[in-house]
Amino acid sequence: AKGAAMVTAVAYRLIEQSRQIQQTLAEFRLSKAQLLEVKKRMRVEIERGLKKDTHKEATVKMLPTFVRSTPDGTENGDFLALDLGGTNFRVLLVKIRSGKRRSVEMHNKIYAIPIEVMQGTGEELFDHIVYCISDFLDYMGMKSARLPLGFTFSFPCHQTSLDAGILVTWTKGFKATDCEGEDVVELLREAIKRKEEFELDVVAIVNDTVGTMMTCAYEEPTCEVGLIAGTGSNACYMEEMRNIEIVEGNEGRMCVNMEWGAFGDNGCLDDIRTKYDQAVDENSLNEGKQRYEKMCSGMYLGEIVRQILIDLTKRGFLFRGQISETLKTRGIFETKFLSQIESDRLALLQVRAILQQLGLDSTCDDSIIVKEVCGTVSRRAAQICGAGMAAVVDKIRENRGLDHLDITVSCCSLPPSFSRIFQQTVKELAPKCDVNFLLSEDGSGKGAALITAVGCRQRELDAI
Ligand code: BGC
Ligand code: MG
Repeated sequence: AKGAAMVTAVAYRLIEQSRQIQQTLAEFRLSKAQLLEVKKRMRVEIERGLKKDTHKEATVKMLPTFVRSTPDGTENGDFLALDLGGTNFRVLLVKIRSGKRRSVEMHNKIYAIPIEVMQGTGEELFDHIVYCISDFLDYMGMKSARLPLGFTFSFPCHQTSLDAGILVTWTKGFKATDCEGEDVVELLREAIKRKEEFELDVVAIVNDTVGTMMTCAYEEPTCEVGLIAGTGSNACYMEEMRNIEIVEGNEGRMCVNMEWGAFGDNGCLDDIRTKYDQAVDENSLNEGKQRYEKMCSGMYLGEIVRQILIDLTKRGFLFRGQISETLKTRGIFETKFLSQIESDRLALLQVRAILQQLGLDSTCDDSIIVKEVCGTVSRRAAQICGAGMAAVVDKIRENRGLDHLDITVSCCSLPPSFSRIFQQTVKELAPKCDVNFLLSEDGSGKGAALITAVGCRQRELDAI
């Protein structure tokens, strides 16, 4: 009888434990009504960003890009492109050929940006960038060419023309001093001058979302939306000039860099943010900022998972209640591990092997829980990202006075399960839109070159 009572006690403990874990995860499981609410709020913030009266204090900035049309195939020439702000820094030579046999040929080199440089002084950062360009030009044997350059700079910039962009704020892992409030094109030009080795003609500054959209639009003219869900999260789309109140003119369209990562910075998402989201925010370089981005982009998902695991361990549900040094380490759960762990094809034994590799000793029960945590966090990310996108495509549909809209969205490569849930959510929340998702593999650099080509042509026309 005593034995039976003990078994019952253990069973009760397990049931209670699993109830508590489910209760914790329930906060991350959003209903359709909640997602529709996210969509609605995004729409409100979009309007606030576009309107002159509210633009200044708006959190979703809706920044004009001065990109007025998608490419038409007549772009031509050799261009240099820089791509800063993702996982790597890249320098590219892009050869675009127009005509019947139009083509784009690319050569590129990847350079690391050490963390001391990302978070040092602005001068050091831009000197490093120019040092990399110099190395690339040597490598290509093109130092004397004075090429036109497109600068993909994946941070919010207030643009007044194609080639001027004042950095609003750093995001993600960057925090170099003396850059916020400055025109980054000027900072680049000055650094090129300091080096005294070569000349370049900086023609365009381009957000990565815009570059991605342009690359897709080169192949598929219905592509008028760009999405990045990588280290950071953001979208752009072709908005009607008449709706962009801070830019003069009412004819035609202009691409708007939404900077939707900052959605929620005014507290409008507080009811769905959990204490784990708050902990991630408090531990970040930019506390209080980019709250939506911190719920759905690669740089932060692993951190949300880690915060949950720490809490579950403290409550004795995981890792025998022992918080290891590893679990205390920021950034251990890289996105690639997350998507591996949550993948349906991965057996629990393999999950344990991955955890082991990360330095976490897990039991079989632990691995089940970890897998569920990863799946839940990444599902919520894909869903709220989908809710944001639903707001965008419905806005475009309404702009055009249509009952039904067919549109293409260019996406960077997303983990398969994220991509599936994201697309499902858009479909469910924006049923009047048929959204075609096109993958754009390293589109941001190529897109910068295409925009530079259009910019050069415009300059020639203006000169006549
Ligand atoms: C930046 C955006 C960028 C996005 C994706 C965000 O942190 O603010 O400008 O497009 O990351 O790279
Ligand atoms: Mg206008």
